[in-house]
Amino acid sequence: MSDAVLNTNTNMNAAAPRVLLLGGTGDALKIARQLDASHVYSLAGIGRVPTDLACEVRVGGFGGAEGLANYLRDARIGVVVDATHPYAAQISANAAQACHATGVPYWALRRAPWQPQAGDDWRFVDGWSGIVDALAPFARPLFTLGREPLAHLDEIPPHQFWFIRCLDAHEGNHRARVIDARGPFDVDGERALFALQRIDVVVSKNSGGSATEAKLAVARERGLPVVTLRRPMLPDADRTFDEPAALVAALRECSAINESRSQ
Ligand code: NAP
Repeated sequence: MSDAVLNTNTNMNAAAPRVLLLGGTGDALKIARQLDASHVYSLAGIGRVPTDLACEVRVGGFGGAEGLANYLRDARIGVVVDATHPYAAQISANAAQACHATGVPYWALRRAPWQPQAGDDWRFVDGWSGIVDALAPFARPLFTLGREPLAHLDEIPPHQFWFIRCLDAHEGNHRARVIDARGPFDVDGERALFALQRIDVVVSKNSGGSATEAKLAVARERGLPVVTLRRPMLPDADRTFDEPAALVAALRECSAINESRSQ
């Protein structure tokens, strides 16, 4: 959709629209650092909550699309910026719906997906059962797609040992080891991990960005397949950006961010 949506929308105060930034990603935090106290940064509440931001930080769900629409009205939000993770499809759907209901512009940061390169063996799947099927021939998968495998620790096939890297500290079992770690991860560290754990397949979302990309390079080096969870469908946005800097520039253009605030 075009800028006309933003310029003609009555809820968008052309002088200084109040931003609701939906976050939970490193890119969102970069944008949040540019927002002053008149704006709001919203987190689901499952990760770290920054304490050094100038903007207001709110934590926890809104209560679905309807709750979010009420929040947009009550807090007099002038633009919603969705910088959530590309696999956080529910909050994006809710945000698009709430914006549509209230007439608030819906902007989205949509990180470009990784693209397979020569030598890659990516096997695309749609959900957990697809992952299980794709892993059947392998013995030592490295899971890098969040906490979902933790719910399946009792279902590990006898020929497999799982190495699960996620943000949550969690008990493993005799056939699984869980490591809580937060990126960025570099190629040397990934090489060492793959060798030490004798990883023979990687399970990944297609998150895009550089912070967790090194595992793909190491899988390529070692000729290992990557079982890749396809991206969910996300709603169309009034404006879409692929870099935080471009989004920040657009917020400056519409006066949401003061020119004097440093990058
Ligand atoms: P989700 O399934 O899309 O959202 C589940 C519910 O969590 C939403 O309906 C909403 O609750 C609440 N929520 C999500 N993001 C929120 C936000 N920024 N502010 C306030 N409420 C929020 O999301 P998810 O996949 O569980 O991810 C949760 C958060 O972790 C997201 O903010 C996302 O950016 C971040 N994250 C997700 C992933 C991933 O792979 N999914 C990876 C890294 C970071 P209500 O309906 O009650 O409003």
